[in-house]
Amino acid sequence: MCQHNPRCPDADSADRDQAQLVTQAVSQGWGRRCNGLLTFDDTGGLLPDGRIIAPQRPLPTLAGAA
Ligand SMILES: [Zn+2]
Repeated sequence: MCQHNPRCPDADSADRDQAQLVTQAVSQGWGRRCNGLLTFDDTGGLLPDGRIIAPQRPLPTLAGAA
């Protein structure tokens, strides 16, 4: 688990996306954080237990769809 000091926020905490990045696939648009959270360039995420976090901002493709 987390070896950082101070310890990274848990995946269940509100500041979960402040955990340190341990893997980052820039070309694929995602990164994995120390607490197991996957974060995506669209600001969405995937928790270690499989729950999905909806993107926190509108996607550019939706803005001009109407
Ligand atoms: Zn950590």
